[in-house]
Amino acid sequence: MEDVAANLARVRAEIATALQESKRPEGDARLVAVSKKQPLERVEAALAAGQRVFGENYVQEAKRRWEPLKGRYGDLDLHLIGALQSNKAEDAVALFDTIQTLDRPRLATALAKAVAKAGRRPRLLVQVNTGLEPQKAGVAPDELPDLLGHCRGLDLDVEGLMAIPPAGDDVAIHAALLAKLAKRHGLPEVSIGMSDDFGPAIRFGATIVRVGSAIFGERPEG
Ligand SMILES: *Cc1c(COP(=O)(O)O)cnc(C)c1O
Repeated sequence: MEDVAANLARVRAEIATALQESKRPEGDARLVAVSKKQPLERVEAALAAGQRVFGENYVQEAKRRWEPLKGRYGDLDLHLIGALQSNKAEDAVALFDTIQTLDRPRLATALAKAVAKAGRRPRLLVQVNTGLEPQKAGVAPDELPDLLGHCRGLDLDVEGLMAIPPAGDDVAIHAALLAKLAKRHGLPEVSIGMSDDFGPAIRFGATIVRVGSAIFGERPEG
């Protein structure tokens, strides 16, 4: 049995240490607890330990899980960190408080429409393919200015950038690049860093880390 509360305390302490060592104020990096595919009792344990910011990869799975919990916890901050299809934009806007995976003009247009219809404005991050991996989601760094311009034209406020570095790469290079791009465009949020590397990610500029297995344990198969 995973001790979710103890794991959470350890992750939070590591975040605090990384911030201190970077001479950044306490609270300068936020923890998104990635609950995708985790059993409900582990999520309940995190809620009982005071965690309110959660990340999910799949819109339908997140909807089933979080719609009932939203009534009990009014202060949830739900982040979509998985790929979003344009035809799920309305569902995503209705459920999530932050959408981290905006990565193409067509999706921006769908989100703008959904925002207008729902009268609800999730915070938005643009996903950048910092590793230039052909199979991976995210806008290429040199296409970022055009996508941000497209979002401005749609009256969508983008608050930051998100990246998933290639497996095996040192997170430092990608965090530094993402932080540099964010700064260049005047965007405050930098989302990078997972269970294995959230400490170094913070040292290289992350303001949001997305941590799953280090909190909840290994995800059950299937
Ligand atoms: C699953 C996932 C995470 C969390 O991964 P862990 O290694 O379990 O911490 C973070 N970000 C994204 C985009 C993910 O899909």
